[in-house]
Amino acid sequence: MKIGCPTEIKPQEFRVGMTPDAAREAVNQGHQVLIQHGAGMGSGFTDEDYTSAGAHIIATASEIFATADMIVKVKEPQAGERKMLREGQLLFTYLHLAPDPEQTHDLLESGCTAIAYETVTDDRGGLPLLSPMSEVAGRLAPQVGAWTLQKANGGRGVLMGGVPGVAPARVVVIGGGVVGTHAAKVAAGMGADVTVLDRSLNRLKYLDDVFGRDFKNQYSTAGATLDLVRQADLVIGAVLIPGAAAPKLITRAQLSEMKPGAAIVDVAIDQGGCFETSKATTHGDPIYDVDGIMHYCVANMPGAVARTSTIALGNATMPFMLALASKGWRQACIDDPHLLNGLNVHAGQLTYYAVGKALGMDV
Ligand code: NAD
Repeated sequence: MKIGCPTEIKPQEFRVGMTPDAAREAVNQGHQVLIQHGAGMGSGFTDEDYTSAGAHIIATASEIFATADMIVKVKEPQAGERKMLREGQLLFTYLHLAPDPEQTHDLLESGCTAIAYETVTDDRGGLPLLSPMSEVAGRLAPQVGAWTLQKANGGRGVLMGGVPGVAPARVVVIGGGVVGTHAAKVAAGMGADVTVLDRSLNRLKYLDDVFGRDFKNQYSTAGATLDLVRQADLVIGAVLIPGAAAPKLITRAQLSEMKPGAAIVDVAIDQGGCFETSKATTHGDPIYDVDGIMHYCVANMPGAVARTSTIALGNATMPFMLALASKGWRQACIDDPHLLNGLNVHAGQLTYYAVGKALGMDV
């Protein structure tokens, strides 16, 4: 199969759909890999890294779209890219179609077959192509939180780990899923005093079994949350209610009960955020102040560490990409029902129930 990987064109996107290692694996299995000139640069991969892995460098995206059987990307195809998709062509990338009727319409019209990273599942009920980015955002959250806490950035001027004789920062993580667990691990590793709140007792039991003494956990009620947030130097928002906007767990009025200069990192901002005062920011201008509380609400946190994110995503997508290339999408999806769950669009037909329901379209 001819596998094409164009340069990402969405603003501030530095990841790339295929690493040189993934390209090498595909070439070793007899596939032809076409990489757009410069596609890996944002993640620190040169054209030479790809050619030495056996891939071909192609000057333009239009040449790749015109010849590849499968397009492998990171972000949903942008309007110009969607015009280049062809009938029978396979698209493997993040799509997030539910809130995006325009993209859905264009994909249906193109006649392509589109498999979305975010709806591929695994045996444990997880989302294996989404979780690497939650791992990255979770581990990054204490790092950006520590920076936000610095005095020059408007923060309280508290060091995460303290020093001998001075107490460490108090960190509260709301939501103990993938983001929250990784955030808590890193914050505890920095020496902070960490408590994780979650609504799922099973999740709290798991956290207690695995991380017993590294950080505390508590059941998430409105009262417990407010109590902990009042004492916190840094609060990390990491809740998710699948398919719904994030619940607002801290109101603007409650900010005045927090310590002046405390920091909020709202990782759940891509679902609207779990603080009433959260609004999405960018890497260029990531923090803002509301009532003396510093907010960091970057909606695409993994973009800050594009190289790590690209490799993490590539590790997760590669086995599926190889199965699609070697067996063709139909047989690969027959053999693997989890990959079949990724099928969102085929030959002008919407094939994913939740997207159809969200958009009021037939599936
Ligand atoms: P997850 O499903 O693994 O975890 C969410 C957790 O929230 C679950 O354990 C759930 O029980 C808990 N929860 C739900 N309601 C709660 C409440 N009221 N109080 C406390 N806990 C509650 O999800 P995840 O992968 O960890 O993702 C968390 C959020 O981070 C999502 O909104 C996701 O889209 C977002 N995210 C953002 C970025 C970014 O760049 N900003 C990157 C990755 C993920």
